[in-house]
Amino acid sequence: MRPSVLDPLFAPASSLPGIGPKLAGLLDTLLLPAGSQSGARVRDLLFHLPSGIVDRRRRAEIATAPEGTLVTLELRIDRHQPGATRAQPTRVFAHDETGEIALTYFRAQSAWLEKLLPAGETMIVSGKVEWFNGRPQMVHPDFVAPLAEAETLPLVEPVYPMTAGLSAKVLRKAIEAAQERSPELPQWLDPEMARRHAFPPVGEAVARLHAPRDPADIALDGPAWKRLAYDELLASQLALALSRQRMKKAPGRALGGDGARREAARAALPFALTEGQEKAVAEILADMGREERMLRLLQGDVGAGKTVVALMAMAAAAESGAQSALLAPTEILARQHHAGLSRWCEAAGLSIVLLTGRDSGRARAEKLQRIADGEVDIVVGTHALFQDDVAYHDLGLVVVDEQHRFGVHQRLSLTRKGRAPDLLVMTATPIPRTLVLAAFGDMDVSRLEGKPAGRKPIATVAVPMERMGDIVERARKAIEAGDKLYWVCPLVEESDKSELTAAQERFEHLRKVLGDVVGLVHGRMSGEEKDAAMADFKSGRTRIVVATTVIEVGVDVPDASIIVIEHAERFGLSQLHQLRGRVGRGDKASSCVLLYRGPLGETARARLEVIRDSEDGFRIAEEDLKLRGEGDLLGTRQSGMQAFRIASLADHAELMEIARDDARLTLTRDPELKSERGEALRVLLYLFGKDEAVRLLRAG
Ligand code: ADP
Ligand code: MG
Repeated sequence: MRPSVLDPLFAPASSLPGIGPKLAGLLDTLLLPAGSQSGARVRDLLFHLPSGIVDRRRRAEIATAPEGTLVTLELRIDRHQPGATRAQPTRVFAHDETGEIALTYFRAQSAWLEKLLPAGETMIVSGKVEWFNGRPQMVHPDFVAPLAEAETLPLVEPVYPMTAGLSAKVLRKAIEAAQERSPELPQWLDPEMARRHAFPPVGEAVARLHAPRDPADIALDGPAWKRLAYDELLASQLALALSRQRMKKAPGRALGGDGARREAARAALPFALTEGQEKAVAEILADMGREERMLRLLQGDVGAGKTVVALMAMAAAAESGAQSALLAPTEILARQHHAGLSRWCEAAGLSIVLLTGRDSGRARAEKLQRIADGEVDIVVGTHALFQDDVAYHDLGLVVVDEQHRFGVHQRLSLTRKGRAPDLLVMTATPIPRTLVLAAFGDMDVSRLEGKPAGRKPIATVAVPMERMGDIVERARKAIEAGDKLYWVCPLVEESDKSELTAAQERFEHLRKVLGDVVGLVHGRMSGEEKDAAMADFKSGRTRIVVATTVIEVGVDVPDASIIVIEHAERFGLSQLHQLRGRVGRGDKASSCVLLYRGPLGETARARLEVIRDSEDGFRIAEEDLKLRGEGDLLGTRQSGMQAFRIASLADHAELMEIARDDARLTLTRDPELKSERGEALRVLLYLFGKDEAVRLLRAG
């Protein structure tokens, strides 16, 4: 149960004075992600932080006031001059030592205005000075007060991200009301670390951010913002660490026998493992050999050779008589893994079976039987691997390929089929370290460095659509020279059809020009059709395959050496990198043609430049983070992972590392969160909606 100290913060925003149903609706729109079940709460108002400030501290004089800048003037009011017609503004003339200015009001009542700015008085007036027909004026000053009340002038006011229909003043009032309800919260930070980072207490940080006195007060790297960002990151890292602790607690077992299966697998490979692969294999085997469960992320650029690393791990599991499941995100990829691994497994005496949603009836029942009887060492497949009726004889290792597409929260459920199986997650998206921490903070990481020897760099060029004809000619020559090509078109979307070059149309066009060496594969085809198209391409019956991005993830046709990406300007950086990684896998020199339709926006141009100039997946991912922000890069939409609301991964990367260590150390000392600080940390977890994590504690 949520600690009662948080009750005021979790009360609905509509329970605050002055917030009726209409305003509450606007607050929901502003403060909550689309599709939220419950309404905005007091907490959400407090965490809605300013995006800037209005600064009225700049005192100025009329003659020298910078045009268009917010200034505060001290003025003597002279006379009111109502407009000749209602449509014309009233001008209130005033002066200081340097000159005269007109304060201009449209549709103002003269009685009200005369009371506001009495002639003969000295007033403080704040607003933007504009020069109109060579004379200074200020249209609707946003603040006026008698000189005697100058003290009360809010010199600095926060500006918030807004939504249509909500006024800044009303939002500020609501946030003030929320602050009045804020309870005293327990101290969940280690006092020593809080001091070292000059973190103010949480209440003070919130108060400072909503009542800044200086732009520095709301800076992302200022103490107040950093304090709250740290709280958010700590909550998230603690939640991840708790799920790790829970998974590790279930006793695992040591996997890996005499090495015979591994030796056999090695002997079956037509190549030697690279140094990077050896190192990754060693790290994984060391983990598997321990009683503790393995939770490891294998990160390696496209084409780095992760599959073979997985094979070695699965062979080790088989030595202990345990089964392995290899989970792929798509049917195509599952089939490809199965086809690729089968050759090697056969030679190594490992039995392997493919299980996907396409299996049904007797054939499926037979497969399930063999899996349940333990006749099968390795099961490759899609989500079908974890359907309810799939029972394993003894599942010891789960390998998840390209995991970011599955979503982080599904992780626990993947391992429930076995007796605390080890988990190896392979991802080809080179995620910057900060994002690894954000998404997988609880996992150990192996980085697969380098690529198999003999890979040639991929020559990448960006070419405008107008030169399409040249590219087709080049494709013809390449085919004549025995090359294979991918030709990628953006998704076939009904709504976009008129605008996008649909794969279908491109296919027909190329077929006309190049003949029946052209194949087609897209997401709307049935599984069998896709397989057939890819098989044709692999075997060389077709030499060029027109594809939508279904080929993005993991497809391996080593002798394809050219990839043409149409509408390259529409793809994200990581996606372009993944796509390009389809070539350059064999020993042929490869190339990538980025066909774009101009004129290019700034970001699109930057993206194409990055991809043209670099093949380093990690560098590309860092650039991507800069160009896009973290949410997109992680595929937030698919994974359902919440982006942070206060912390920014680009600005608070350092804090993330500290929070990770803090979380781990805390749980080492106080695994049940029972100490005084532990209790306070539970409050923190609830505050940031990590209720699940606290439940893990209780389930203990
Ligand atoms: P990814 O890391 O993108 O999943 P794959 O596992 O698909 O990469 O490997 C890419 C290609 O490199 C495959 O054709 C694979 O057989 C080959 N490969 C893997 N390891 C080596 C190696 N050590 N030497 C030569 N080729 C290798
Ligand atoms: Mg792969």
